[in-house]
Amino acid sequence: MRQPLLAFNDKGIYCAQANVYLDPWRPVDNAIITHGHSDHSRWGHKHYITHHMNVPIIKHRLGDIVVTGKNWGETFTINGVTFSFHPAGHIIGSAQVRVEHKGEVWVFTGDYKTEDDGISTPYEVVKCHTFITENTFGLPAFKWLPQTEVMDDVNNWWATNRADGKTSVLFGYTLGKAQRLLKYLDPNIGRIYTHGAVENMTQVLRSMVSFPETIRITKETKKEDLLGSIVLAPPSAHGSTWIRKMTPYVTGSASGWMAFRGARRRRAIDKGFVMSDHCDWQGLLESIQATGAEKIICTHGYSDIFSTYLREQGYDARTEQTQYEGDEGEVENKADAETDEQP
Ligand SMILES: [Zn+2]
Repeated sequence: MRQPLLAFNDKGIYCAQANVYLDPWRPVDNAIITHGHSDHSRWGHKHYITHHMNVPIIKHRLGDIVVTGKNWGETFTINGVTFSFHPAGHIIGSAQVRVEHKGEVWVFTGDYKTEDDGISTPYEVVKCHTFITENTFGLPAFKWLPQTEVMDDVNNWWATNRADGKTSVLFGYTLGKAQRLLKYLDPNIGRIYTHGAVENMTQVLRSMVSFPETIRITKETKKEDLLGSIVLAPPSAHGSTWIRKMTPYVTGSASGWMAFRGARRRRAIDKGFVMSDHCDWQGLLESIQATGAEKIICTHGYSDIFSTYLREQGYDARTEQTQYEGDEGEVENKADAETDEQP
């Protein structure tokens, strides 16, 4: 039997014909990278290839690396295998990877979402024979509301807290969620402050997207200035000494997990907003159908449940083990928070 175009091994998703890995989790020579979240773009590869918008992001995270940036749809061929990047709509610069060899086409999604968030290049359907999909929120219980509705709720929450004389602390991942929230916060309500980790990443992205003005929280920031303002912070800041400066404050979290009953209370959050940078159940099913793929490989998330469902629908679907962590993997690592000025 001919070896598959892409295979899963202990280092990542491997294309033997081209000797490259897609989003490898162990150090390799040639890595094609879908996006900047830490479970997909890891340190230690000799050469990185990614979409050019992701270049400044991974350089910010990984330091001095050797990286080549490509445009959307630009093809490059390695030993007869043709690769190209196509928008995944997950975060700024996030891509799906299309792999073609002798007329056979595979697509690896990395992480993706189908709703146009207004800051990421919108998800594009890429026709293929085999589709490798994430399943972070692959349960029927996950059904997202339109972004405009969620952001109206966020802004109303902030305005109410301000009227109560309190500071609003809103948690979202440093890369992706924080900027999506920032983009639609209403600066007419009050000032927008940022935790250092959020501010640093936002600065990297300001060259690509316009955002409202932000103020970095430093040792000099006065408690009085924060009152009535909103503070964008990574989830890791919750429960830290850093946050005590905000008293009196209320906390909010924007995450797909907030759809789970009890998730907000378990995480000791005052207010949960259901907002995800991944597909919901319907989004996954519609994308899979639109690709025309007959073979589906499910990677991280509820992949066993999801692939079982797909088989019942007549697909040739299976699960493969990876080290991608979906939304949980995007929780800021400790090093990220520690590099920041902690007032
Ligand atoms: Zn991601």
